[in-house]
Amino acid sequence: MTVQQILWQLHDLDQQGTRWNEQLERDGLSVYRQRSERARQALAACMQRMSEVESDLERRQQSLVRLESEIGQLQSELKSVHGYEASVLNHRLQPLLLHKGQQEEILLQLMLEQEETGPQLSPLRSEAEEAAQELEEARSEEQERVAILRQRLAQANEQRLLVAKSLEVELLAAYERGRKCYGLGLQEVKTGRCGRCRVEFPDHFQRLLKQGEGMACPTCQVVLVQPRTGQGPVNESRQV
Ligand SMILES: [Zn+2]
Repeated sequence: MTVQQILWQLHDLDQQGTRWNEQLERDGLSVYRQRSERARQALAACMQRMSEVESDLERRQQSLVRLESEIGQLQSELKSVHGYEASVLNHRLQPLLLHKGQQEEILLQLMLEQEETGPQLSPLRSEAEEAAQELEEARSEEQERVAILRQRLAQANEQRLLVAKSLEVELLAAYERGRKCYGLGLQEVKTGRCGRCRVEFPDHFQRLLKQGEGMACPTCQVVLVQPRTGQGPVNESRQV
């Protein structure tokens, strides 16, 4: 194996490691969490409205009973009076009757709402339970996914140590520097020039590169490799 092949191997391992780390950071549960939270909130809102309607109904029914008894009182008083006294009583009675009509209208609306809201509770409750259940199931799948990724990363790290060990210290240091500065440890040679700084290499230098030697660009110090021919990276990234 040439030094450049080893460098490509290191590069592939690093690329793969980066992808796995990204997959590791992704929260595989967020969709389930959101769905469960939405269902929970919808149920809570429905229950809240239901209890508001119920207590409002109770309060208004009690106040209607008081109002009706007040009206009944006035109406029975009216039977025994005439003239000015009767008109005074009538004057008191009219707004009470109007108020009663309004209260009955509101009560009717509340009862309708109660009738409509009641049947919504049960499906909302089932949906919330279902979503919570799905989240629980997804949790164990997610744990498994994370465990597999961690294991693969650990194996890749071990392999990387071995590969890195087989490189010269200076070349490895240049590779690591490139990774830190440019996100890539390697730079391909293009038409006899450095792919980064574009400096043209002398013939003997190009010959060594073509033989697979591991060299850094004399100008910008990036590690140089010949473009890969044939199939892509040896270590295909596996989606987990
Ligand atoms: Zn260069």
